[in-house]
Amino acid sequence: MSTASAPAPTTAAASCRFCGRPLTRVFVDLGMSPLCESFLAAGELDRMEPFYPLLVRVCDGCFLVQLAEYVRPADIFTDYAYFSSYSTSWLDHARRYVDAMRDRFALGRGSRVVEIASNDGYLLQYFVAKGIPVLGVEPAANVARAAEEKGVPTWVGFFGAESAARLARERGRADLMIGNNVLAQVPDVNDFVEGYRTLLAPEGVATLEFPHLMRLMERNQFDTIYHEHFSYFSFFTAEAIFARHGLALFDVEELPTHGGSLRIYAAHRGSRRAAAPSSRVETMRRMEKGNGVDRIETYSAFPEQVRRVKRDLLKFLIAARERGDSVVGYGAPGKGNTLLNYCGIRTDLLDYTVDRNPHKHGRFLPGTHIPIFPPEKIRETRPRYVFILPWNLKDEIMEQLAYVREWGGRFLVPIPEVREYA
Ligand SMILES: [Zn+2]
Repeated sequence: MSTASAPAPTTAAASCRFCGRPLTRVFVDLGMSPLCESFLAAGELDRMEPFYPLLVRVCDGCFLVQLAEYVRPADIFTDYAYFSSYSTSWLDHARRYVDAMRDRFALGRGSRVVEIASNDGYLLQYFVAKGIPVLGVEPAANVARAAEEKGVPTWVGFFGAESAARLARERGRADLMIGNNVLAQVPDVNDFVEGYRTLLAPEGVATLEFPHLMRLMERNQFDTIYHEHFSYFSFFTAEAIFARHGLALFDVEELPTHGGSLRIYAAHRGSRRAAAPSSRVETMRRMEKGNGVDRIETYSAFPEQVRRVKRDLLKFLIAARERGDSVVGYGAPGKGNTLLNYCGIRTDLLDYTVDRNPHKHGRFLPGTHIPIFPPEKIRETRPRYVFILPWNLKDEIMEQLAYVREWGGRFLVPIPEVREYA
């Protein structure tokens, strides 16, 4: 990811990016943090590092949880270092999705599929293999080039109402529009969803996946908050946003990805599909209402949950240090950087971390300056505890690292609560 230039202008009197009301309520304040993907080389450790607020607010009108645009998307996403195809479980997820959509919506050679934030073509490549015409939309030129090399035609730019009108005119409207983990990263959510209305064919279907705010609160996943994620959605709020742009949500699924995500299905109001919603829509509405997503008091419980994790984690790490037990990290995910910076954990409490991605070896975590080594380092140093930062992958990681038990090593997971595993 690129290093950020000047911060985007923000005003103290912020207003909701969906409904425009003044934002007066803090959802959670995680202090100041560097951009979570700005890993440092050894020669950069002495330099000044930009930190931005991670102050999250909730709108008491529409309950959209949101972070101000402290950093411009152009500074984050135009030279993005994240290539989706590096993750095999994400590729499996994509392939299953493509099969399901083709069958359910009878897509074929005469259809048109458009994916927003199509990354390196990790998903569209499976439509291409089935002979279904596709177009990717991707702001990062380097990532889009990788997609083109896979045979996935890709338009380079940010998506919104204006680019949607141009794409509809020049390339035709879409029978299926896809947006996976992009809705959260859009600073102007109204312009983005209006783009969906513009580019979607009259009887077309749009699907979007995003982390589910209700699960984030329930499972204490505050470390999934970072500067790249501007908004956090319940189904309730997402439905209101799409409705305002003439789109009805006619189906919804809960997915295990990212600790609990939603996949929503949208169609034009008045279309055949909008007229026959799945029973899952009503079930979801009822479940969220039962969890209080439409009441502001529900949101005010969150900061204390977050502070409890911080206290429990620090207590654990300090006690381990005082006993002389070594603790090392596993993984260098964005969420780890939010957690470590918020809790103030540096090499005083965590010796180092390891990662399978060779691009991160020899580098340091932003803000905390914890060094990143290849996973073999764990076998060399035989730590008492391995602290799993990507807790959403804990089962897979504990299996990979089963050998730490040879010397009595144990695992530590921070979320939803601090917990030790033998
Ligand atoms: Zn609002």
